Amino acid sequence: MLDLKKDFPIFRENPGLCFLDSGASAQKPSYVIDFVADFYRKTYANIHRGVYKLSWDTTVLYDKAREKTAQFLGVKDPESVIFTKNTTESINLVAYSFGEKLKEGDEVIVSIMEHHANFVPWQMLAKKKGIKLKIAYIDKENLTLPLENITNLITDKTKLIALTMCSNVLGTISPFVEVCKIAKEKGIKVLLDGAQYMPHHKINFSKLGIDPDFVVFSGHKLCSFDGVGVLYGKRELLEEMRPFLTGGDMIESVSIEETTFAPLPNKFEAGTPPIGAVISLLKAIEYLESIGLEKIEEHETMLAKEAIKRLREIEGVYVFAPENISNGIVSFTIDGIHPHDIATILAKDNVCIRAGMHCAEPLITYLGQDSFARATFYLYNDMEDVERLIKAVLKCKEVFRL
Ligand code: PMP
Repeated sequence: MLDLKKDFPIFRENPGLCFLDSGASAQKPSYVIDFVADFYRKTYANIHRGVYKLSWDTTVLYDKAREKTAQFLGVKDPESVIFTKNTTESINLVAYSFGEKLKEGDEVIVSIMEHHANFVPWQMLAKKKGIKLKIAYIDKENLTLPLENITNLITDKTKLIALTMCSNVLGTISPFVEVCKIAKEKGIKVLLDGAQYMPHHKINFSKLGIDPDFVVFSGHKLCSFDGVGVLYGKRELLEEMRPFLTGGDMIESVSIEETTFAPLPNKFEAGTPPIGAVISLLKAIEYLESIGLEKIEEHETMLAKEAIKRLREIEGVYVFAPENISNGIVSFTIDGIHPHDIATILAKDNVCIRAGMHCAEPLITYLGQDSFARATFYLYNDMEDVERLIKAVLKCKEVFRL
């Protein structure tokens, strides 16, 4: 059992805080906060542009973050790791720059459990270019996404499968390894949305024997500062794609008539990047690796399983989770109480959960719901947080006299 609250100053500063909303954004350990605060005090300057020591030292740290991220993903080419603002921007970059090459009649497959960030950009592209957007549905009974629900949609017109690795609502893990293997055989490109997967599981694409074309995730969900996202892309694809944003730092040469672009990764990092956030990502990955991602997965899964078991014992409470969960996501409803009321009542007891559509309206609608309450457990949560959740849910029922 991990015991890590002491590493996170938010818990010291907010006694009694029961934070169960890490699926939205994770808290930051002192290891990350202190390093970045010190960096701003002692080292900060803009990267790439200076020959003086501060700029040089900042550039070294920034580049180290890129190498660390490549190693974290288990990909060999750090220059194929692009820093963006967040998962949303990474996907929009791919939809714009890779999407530009798709033609009318081409097909893109997504699943019904995508976050809007991996749905809306493809829907807009489809409308703009006359592309067919196909939806792979989950099994409503057991809340899993069977491989054949994706592969049955593949035709010779399929150009891309854009798939979440883990649903931010259900915790369902998609069959992304098999999808990558099958897509590769058929020459179909794959984008994996790792926003909910990367913070909670050890992954090494090389060891898994897969080489997804694009992988995206956000730093803020894995204990880095907000403001940094990652796009890993295969070099040959990134090299063929036109830049998404243009301006400073991404050019090779600019004349009045013409601009040529810098090589990777700069081509996709226009303007001053979120330097402090990128460096915080380096420290966040170091921190998570020092704890061990396998241990984190085991710990949060154990807490979520206990919470699910206890919630299911309460009359009128329904948990929406697949049987074999392997992360800390617990979405539920209570008969007769709207999830927004549940979250509001829990907040009075300092139990922080989230309620609503969780940016996954197509999924919520498909499941015949209009909203879920969602508690998410992470490495700093403990059994007391499970107890607090259960107590607060019982109190919620009392308030509504149910
Ligand atoms: N995809 C998934 C699966 C997510 O859970 C989220 C965040 N909730 C996103 C994409 C979007 O991440 P961001 O808001 O950091 O861009």
